[in-house]
Amino acid sequence: MVSNVADYKTEVHNDWCPGCGDFGIVSAIQMALAEMDIPRHKAAIFSGVGCSGKTSHYVNTYGVHTLHGRVLTFSQGAKLANPEMTVVAVGGDGDGLGIGAGHFVAAGRRNVDMTYIIFNNGVYGLTKGQASPTLKLGLKTKSLPEPNVNQSVNPIALAIASGYTFVARGYAYDVRQLKDLIIAAVKHRGLSFLDVLQPCPTYNDINTRDWFSGMDNIDEITNKPRPRIYKLEDTGYDASVHIDSPDEENEKLTQALIKSNEWDSKIPTGIFYKNEIIAPYDERMSERIPNYVENPPSNQEISSGNKS
Ligand code: SF4
Repeated sequence: MVSNVADYKTEVHNDWCPGCGDFGIVSAIQMALAEMDIPRHKAAIFSGVGCSGKTSHYVNTYGVHTLHGRVLTFSQGAKLANPEMTVVAVGGDGDGLGIGAGHFVAAGRRNVDMTYIIFNNGVYGLTKGQASPTLKLGLKTKSLPEPNVNQSVNPIALAIASGYTFVARGYAYDVRQLKDLIIAAVKHRGLSFLDVLQPCPTYNDINTRDWFSGMDNIDEITNKPRPRIYKLEDTGYDASVHIDSPDEENEKLTQALIKSNEWDSKIPTGIFYKNEIIAPYDERMSERIPNYVENPPSNQEISSGNKS
């Protein structure tokens, strides 16, 4: 079977605002599914609540539009019940790092073999642009009466600290790079996290497309924009833990945390950290329960100890 991108599109009316970064992310998901040739009945998109929640309506696979902050609980459960399914969870920065923050951290410890994508725009777009957990301290978007008074969460650093074994960042308007990152995330054995910078032209008038691309910051000598976004892969950065060694792991974790703190003048995209030496959840369970992957037990069987 060879899939086309059109196979993964639906006819559901799209009501995102013109110019929203969400369009690029959905296109990248559809392109990635087509390139990996994943049958539609073997993929499921789970979405949280927010503008990005509509994603599960727009991708022609199985789709579940879940509750606010709970997308990781639904999606991890689905993956455990059906290990053959390609599971992608999506949600906004408010959904995943505000009300869903506890699940975000707990998921890192489990390392279930699935992908989580956060559409990161710094605001709660669906409810008129309140400051979300990723809006930087002191920024005053046009939707706020006063500058943001809170420190922001660093999603990349939080994912690394929580134990995610694949941590990357994409940009909604670089669809080709984002597609490649999604493919790498889905193919990774373990829990993958993708932080996608997604301009919200309706409510965030600071972190705009021009801001990320440097169009608002023209070099006076060369008369060219100074792009804030750059690609880690262009710098020779090596994100992978290659050998089972605490020193190697510490070195890769440290460099990823340092990179995660770059912002404002230089913002890295690409893979920050990748570790396939840590076993995913299903491998750990297979050591305890024979044939776990082929025939996963129900929760009731696990808790009653009936599966042997
Ligand atoms: Fe996109 Fe912002 Fe409009 Fe929501 S409010 S659809 S995030 S532009």
